[in-house]
Amino acid sequence: MNTTTGQTVERRQFDTLIIGAGGGGLRAALKLAEADLNVAVVSKVFPTRSHTVAAQGGMNAALANVLPDNWHWHMFDTVKGSDYLGDQDAIEYMCRAAPKAVYELEHFGVPFSRLDNGKIYQRAFGGQSQNFGGDQAARTCAAADRTGHAILHSLYQQNIRARTHFFDEYFAVDLLRDDEGHVLGAVVFNIHDGQIVVIEAKTTLIATGGAGQLFKTTTNALINTGDGMGMAMRAGIPLQDMEFFQFHPTGIAGRGMLITEGARGEGGYLVNGEGERLMERYAPKAKDLASRDVVSRAIAIEIREGRGCGPNKDYVLLKLDHLGEAVIQKRLPGIRQTCITFLGIDPVEEPIPVFPTAHYTMGGIPTNRHGQVVVPVKDTPEEPVAGLYAAGECACVSVHGGNRLGGNSLLDILVFGRAAANHIIAYLKENKYHRKLSDEELARVVENARRYDRPKADGESVAELRRELKQVMEEHCGVFRNKDVLKEGVDKVEALAQRVKNIRIDDQSATFNTAKVEAYELENLIAVAQATVNSAFAREESRGAHSRIDFPERDDKAWMRHSLYSFEQGLDYKPVRTKPISVESFPPKPRVY
Ligand SMILES: Cc1cc2nc3c(=O)[nH]c(=O)nc-3n(C[C@H](O)[C@H](O)[C@H](O)COP(=O)(O)OP(=O)(O)OC[C@H]3O[C@@H](n4cnc5c(N)ncnc54)[C@H](O)[C@@H]3O)c2cc1C
Repeated sequence: MNTTTGQTVERRQFDTLIIGAGGGGLRAALKLAEADLNVAVVSKVFPTRSHTVAAQGGMNAALANVLPDNWHWHMFDTVKGSDYLGDQDAIEYMCRAAPKAVYELEHFGVPFSRLDNGKIYQRAFGGQSQNFGGDQAARTCAAADRTGHAILHSLYQQNIRARTHFFDEYFAVDLLRDDEGHVLGAVVFNIHDGQIVVIEAKTTLIATGGAGQLFKTTTNALINTGDGMGMAMRAGIPLQDMEFFQFHPTGIAGRGMLITEGARGEGGYLVNGEGERLMERYAPKAKDLASRDVVSRAIAIEIREGRGCGPNKDYVLLKLDHLGEAVIQKRLPGIRQTCITFLGIDPVEEPIPVFPTAHYTMGGIPTNRHGQVVVPVKDTPEEPVAGLYAAGECACVSVHGGNRLGGNSLLDILVFGRAAANHIIAYLKENKYHRKLSDEELARVVENARRYDRPKADGESVAELRRELKQVMEEHCGVFRNKDVLKEGVDKVEALAQRVKNIRIDDQSATFNTAKVEAYELENLIAVAQATVNSAFAREESRGAHSRIDFPERDDKAWMRHSLYSFEQGLDYKPVRTKPISVESFPPKPRVY
């Protein structure tokens, strides 16, 4: 194909293009490949390096292997954990589907840890209860503390068997759309040789994971730059509920590596500088297994009030030594190794210094429970964007609302990856042919994808802008927020967005292609930061992970609604889907643990 510059561009055609090879993308790909569809998976890293590999503690499903349980209790906990912002139809769907999703994984070869009776091992995680808020439940199915690793590798192997077509180390730059708004695939960039490839597809699924790289201290890998969200925004699709960003209570202080909630699930607990079990003050019943937003705020308050640990009183301690070496080695071997390697501390003998750390993007690309991307059109809160789907951490379905419960993300990616594939299979029965991609759209998107092809010796440094952005987000959009701090954050992010228009890529060496990738990633991070900080500034209440010192109460009357932020419209809102599929709604109540 010739573009306006006269260069030839490779064009490929598939039934479905999946952007992202984490758990969400690979679960969808497997279902589609098994339905004999021609499916391509594009990933900027080798698939088994996708961030799902880092998931530690496990995946929730009401199997009742350890304690009594059922999906309805799981649904209640998830609605409550979301601070009533989660969409209850999607939550019901997910909690009902959970046991099946676990058994499917077992059959794909995931080596779950076992109980003595041979059943799948389940541990307690935060926010889990029996009987609608009663005693602690044990709902998280685990493969020691390497559950994501086990799931991702099994899914990859199953996809190889099913002959999914992989484009490894290709970077998706932008979506292709026609005049009627149908999504027709994406333009991707081969990181090895810098060639642009146009992948045309009848359906496209975005499964690009989260945006934890927005913050300076994060449990997320360098690859979590919110690319799919940035791509969606450039295609005119708003992002939903971006002000809700989860800070995990137990990142290793000053470094960010995660210590799974499973460590507290196994009986670990937090102590402050005065040797007190601090969570007894903030959550008398659930204590260390209150939901994450509650525990993170408790740690931040202890430190602010001078009860931190260490010479600067700037962290608290997670105590595991009382569990004994046998339990730690059997249930938390990866955690033990991480502490020995990065801190020189063996948790069998010493407590671990921890601090709340950026962890999970609750917001994302708005979808319904079939994985279809939905946007407001005229008076309707949501209409599907033809041909476009999203699943996993990049999507907002929304099952996590204002705060995600631990163990619910692996469940989300698998349940909605599968649901999206099911919908795609049905859609393709009705939509058998590729729609025509116009020469104009092709030329426009390809030229745009080449925006960093011409090296530029002067201008802003990509690395420096990324460093500044992460600092701004850490300082202005952290665990506690207020109007002035957020307003400054809005202005600073906007200034960075202007400076990004003048970045330099001056490296002509072998690293030129990775320098271009970093430039695309920076654009995506800035777009996601704009959505996050603007949505946070506007929401004048405290709900879930969004904690406003100037508006400390939840305000259901004014704010029981989802935020939408787009370049074109700025902020807009849509109602929460409070009606479940088959059961009564859980009405909002004060959230105590
Ligand atoms: C340290 C850690 C531990 C966790 N532990 C748990 C846990 O125990 N239980 C739980 O439920 N949740 C856990 N989570 C959360 C959970 O792991 C993630 O939310 C989930 O795995 C995300 O899966 P995903 O498929 O959406 O995306 P990912 O696994 O992040 O995959 C994203 C994919 O998109 C690709 N991609 C991104 N951008 C582009 C682009 N521009 N072009 C091409 N490809 C692209 C990447 O290469 C990758 O293949 C944890 C998270 C972290 C950080």
